[in-house]
Amino acid sequence: MVKAVVGANWGDEGKGKITDMLSKEADIICRFQGGANAGHTIVNDYGKFALHTLPSGVFYDHTTSIIGNGVALNIPVLFKEIKSITDQNVPMPKIKVSDRAQIVMSYHILFDQYEEERLGGKSFGSTKSGIAPFYSDKYAKIGFQVSELFDEELLQEKVVRICETKNVLLEHLYHKPLIKPEELLKELHEYRDMVEPYVCDVSAFLYEAIKEGKNILLEGQLGSLKDPDHGIYPMVTSSSTLAAYGAIGAGLPPYEIKQIITVCKAYSSAVGAGAFVSEIFGDEADELRRRGGDGGEFGATTGRPRRMGWFDCVASKYGCRIQGTTDVAFTVLDVLGYLDEIPVCVGYEIDGEVTTDFPTTAKLEKAKPVLKTLPGWKSDIRGIKEYDKLPENCRKYIEFIEEQIGFPITMVSNGPGRNDIIYRNK
Ligand code: GDP
Repeated sequence: MVKAVVGANWGDEGKGKITDMLSKEADIICRFQGGANAGHTIVNDYGKFALHTLPSGVFYDHTTSIIGNGVALNIPVLFKEIKSITDQNVPMPKIKVSDRAQIVMSYHILFDQYEEERLGGKSFGSTKSGIAPFYSDKYAKIGFQVSELFDEELLQEKVVRICETKNVLLEHLYHKPLIKPEELLKELHEYRDMVEPYVCDVSAFLYEAIKEGKNILLEGQLGSLKDPDHGIYPMVTSSSTLAAYGAIGAGLPPYEIKQIITVCKAYSSAVGAGAFVSEIFGDEADELRRRGGDGGEFGATTGRPRRMGWFDCVASKYGCRIQGTTDVAFTVLDVLGYLDEIPVCVGYEIDGEVTTDFPTTAKLEKAKPVLKTLPGWKSDIRGIKEYDKLPENCRKYIEFIEEQIGFPITMVSNGPGRNDIIYRNK
């Protein structure tokens, strides 16, 4: 059975924790999109980890961790991450890297930085991990696929071609040092030697695994609103963040994805630029940021303070719909225990009209939040294991949001740990 764990919003919903938790029952965990630009924070018996490339299932020794073809593979980051977990006494995970994954090259990272510099105040708020230049090259058909590392003749010819096109931009657009074919070739040889033991025909591996009845988890990065097609374009990421893309980015039949667990955080946070209708500012935001997540809402990769907001029913209803949600995992609810009252965004006012449908970007920029205030529960709900034991106002908050978004909340996460979870039968 194949399940996907994906985000309903801007990312940072707590997918890492939910994947880590569900990995107990999984045989294979697969990343299918994105790269080292975002991260998951995971707290378990080994310690606290920030993962960017490895799937969140690497902490169990019964699982195989897969980097699918849809991922932007940064090989040095992958190796650093493997080392960081084995250094903290996690057993060496079983890792497979798709022979069809493409490689983030050092020049992708440079171009990302140069472009942000060039755009100045008009930048997209990139994490400068090379993701946008990487995916541009992939679709311009000038990327390096892992399989190509093992074709020396092809590499020698291709590095010359790549330098020609890249150097035009480096010289005339960015006024930066040029790249040399021999340096690129050396970089590619290093990557080949590093990745060789892990290379695998992943779609064939998954095909067999499905036939054998194995449990496969697809782990998404970021969330619906960062999808290049269905998100807040152009303030989006460069690969699809939707469960549907799991079929492509891992290489398995779309009809095999039976459960789509969409992770929704009990309040909102976002990184980077772009419309964020329920955003809050000042002391109110600072307090939520400080108390949020596990140790504050700061980027797992960049350490940047996240933008904060109240729960947005409009964005989350849309985010869940576009994912094809079967189950909602509602996370980080414990954090809201300090509030007397909790505002929730229940509509958008655009040009004097109120809507609950999430609009395209130009309209979104004009939207003002319509807030409804719900009573808080003023207590610590960590450690509670049964839904009925939650304070009444807390259950009311969950049930109100469930009604607004229109998808069943079957899991409630009330702490960062693996066991901080309340299942609801729906
Ligand atoms: P992801 O990218 O979707 O995996 O999200 P992040 O890892 O960036 O953010 C989630 C943060 O919230 C992490 O620090 C988690 O440890 C933490 N977290 C996840 N679920 C819960 C929860 O239910 N309660 C609390 N307090 N923290 C949580």
